[in-house]
Amino acid sequence: MINKSDFIVIGAGVVGLATSLKLLKQNYSVLLLEKNSSYGLVSSSHNSGVIHSGAYYQTGSLKHLLSIKGKNLIYEYLNKKKIPFKKTGKLFISLSKNNESLNKLYEISKKNGLNDLIFINKNQIQNIDSKIRVNEALLCPSSGILDQKQLLNSLYEDCKYFPKFKLYSSQIIKDIEVNNNIKIISNNIIFEGNYLINSSGLNAPNFLRDKIGSVEGISSYPVKGAYLRLANPTKLNTIIYTSLNPGDITERVDATPTLDNNIIFGPSIENKDFNPEVIINKFKPVIKKYLDIDYEDLVYDYYGTRPKAKKDNEIIKDFLFLKSHKNILNLVNIESPGLTACLSIADYIFENYI
Ligand SMILES: Cc1cc2nc3c(=O)[nH]c(=O)nc-3n(C[C@H](O)[C@H](O)[C@H](O)COP(=O)(O)OP(=O)(O)OC[C@H]3O[C@@H](n4cnc5c(N)ncnc54)[C@H](O)[C@@H]3O)c2cc1C
Repeated sequence: MINKSDFIVIGAGVVGLATSLKLLKQNYSVLLLEKNSSYGLVSSSHNSGVIHSGAYYQTGSLKHLLSIKGKNLIYEYLNKKKIPFKKTGKLFISLSKNNESLNKLYEISKKNGLNDLIFINKNQIQNIDSKIRVNEALLCPSSGILDQKQLLNSLYEDCKYFPKFKLYSSQIIKDIEVNNNIKIISNNIIFEGNYLINSSGLNAPNFLRDKIGSVEGISSYPVKGAYLRLANPTKLNTIIYTSLNPGDITERVDATPTLDNNIIFGPSIENKDFNPEVIINKFKPVIKKYLDIDYEDLVYDYYGTRPKAKKDNEIIKDFLFLKSHKNILNLVNIESPGLTACLSIADYIFENYI
């Protein structure tokens, strides 16, 4: 059995789906190949579900530009499709004695074109949520939370509307021949396309090396992030973000409200296998500094794996769109804010690489 299309997209996460949809809307045919039994089972459903504002990414980076554009596009899409979300805003807080980091963040946010961040005092913080214990915070009104699973379902349904789309799940790709066309041998099916987009998330560097056969000095550098939640659900009205190192992932304990009125804490940073009890004991004293909740209620919830990558052993900081052949584009290091930016990433690919 042979299947032919203009595009073959590898990986049905939120980015693979959004990219497929963009191409379909431009009248191209798309075959989306997924190794799991369904779409969206990896990073796209195991994250914080936060719509990031773009306040603290390095000015001019793709993360900065695509998160700001993507934030607006995703709010529009969520509204139009009636997908559950809440524009909760985000409070940046400092857990150290001085507020230097907040001032620095405020300056970066202005440089990044966000003019809506404001400093708020204890009373104003208490009005947002009386459980929050800090005296000063930087409020970023445009952040929010969304329902990742419903977003994935909606993108898939939108793709399915186009007769020129087909998702093939449970695909074990055995071999790829790259000539003027792309030929993929998978299970008992052969796929042929004019163009290949490697949107395989965590696996993109390995796919590039092992299947596409390209040596670009790119290797994967997966970093797990675990979350805790409260056994007895407690409502929180805003996101609380304690990390203020632009572009870095430093150990931090964010509190993020969920759409079912609970709170998740994390993500932690785990380079090896982790013990949930250790995370609970590590998080508890940090959370105590800024939130009044029942700490004995903290339980392990889930983890996701950041699809980080290295080039020549250096950690890549930005999204990387790597054209390894004239007809192959690899999406590398599509870590946070990839959920926020999925629609702008799709636009960016179309505008710059197709
Ligand atoms: C802990 C954590 C927290 C995060 N929090 C946020 C957040 O709050 N806000 C935000 O904007 N972003 C966040 N992100 C980032 C966001 O989740 C990702 O950027 C986004 O999900 C990337 O989507 P993707 O489609 O590229 O990858 P994925 O969702 O991983 O999809 C890749 C797909 O490729 C498939 N695949 C892999 N190999 C193959 C193969 N050989 N053949 C076929 N298919 C294959 C996989 O099965 C998978 O379905 C977070 C990420 C993590 C890990």
